[in-house]
Amino acid sequence: MKLCEQIDALIERQLRDWTLVRDNYAALEHLAMRSVSLAHSEVILQHNPERRRSSAARVDAASLAARQCFLCREHQPAEQEAVEWGGAYKIQVNPYPIFPAHLTIASLTHEPQRLLPRRIDQMLQLSEELPDWVLFYNGPRCGASAPDHMHFQAGCKGFMPLCDDVLDPTLWPEDEHIEAASDGFIGFTQKLDRPLFFIRCESKPLASFYMARLQMAMMLATGSTDEPMQNVLCWSDGDYYNVVVFPRAKHRPDCYGQGEGQLLLSPASVDMGGVWTVASKRDYDTLTAEQIQSLYDEVCADNATIVRIIDFFHQT
Ligand SMILES: [Zn+2]
Repeated sequence: MKLCEQIDALIERQLRDWTLVRDNYAALEHLAMRSVSLAHSEVILQHNPERRRSSAARVDAASLAARQCFLCREHQPAEQEAVEWGGAYKIQVNPYPIFPAHLTIASLTHEPQRLLPRRIDQMLQLSEELPDWVLFYNGPRCGASAPDHMHFQAGCKGFMPLCDDVLDPTLWPEDEHIEAASDGFIGFTQKLDRPLFFIRCESKPLASFYMARLQMAMMLATGSTDEPMQNVLCWSDGDYYNVVVFPRAKHRPDCYGQGEGQLLLSPASVDMGGVWTVASKRDYDTLTAEQIQSLYDEVCADNATIVRIIDFFHQT
């Protein structure tokens, strides 16, 4: 059976047999959503109280050491099934969804969240085998709620507005590509209200090559010896592999919190992709386009850093 068929069957079984999953996916259908217009793009707010556990997750070393890892098999509920892939990952239904269909794709072993070169290739391969899904990756300091256990996630296509917005060809005139070949390009744009790199290639090796060089350039530009701060979306459509990389500057905005004047928002890939999951009713009711724009501005890399990244990309 093809991987996408195994996943469809997994979802069907988990919805049938696991009450928590059935209840949480049913609840998702009734969540309040509203659209907010930024200067050049639309974002959607989703009031999702269940995501408080993720938005408010403590991800410092001491808190991680003190908790049981929810991606390790021995701490998962008996009802939680998995489809293994590539001898390296288990694909599972996320019991606390944002998307109408939401997967967690976790390493079979407990090892740190890092987008190593082989994992870039695995992500591209998975995008090909899961053509109805958008894969995403949250850096360990950019929204991952389990930075100690390597995992991707995937959401059904058609949910994050950015995945359609970014395909607008007028954003990518040939003379503005960072680099291009006959079978793909890498470019950069600010025109969707947050900075992003976009790789669109017919060739998987070329997409992987651009992505590996971008990782190196981001590390050099930020003086980081560790992985660059980033959120990544990856999907395939027809003959193309698509990868969007949001370069980040901050894990959480300065206004992060649950007190007066604070916002309980911890932006990660899905928020970057244009769906803000808002745990607090007060935040959901009051968030403005100006606030969302300033959150993007605050947590994403600034212009000077972007210029350095592109310079280093050309040198790698
Ligand atoms: Zn673990």
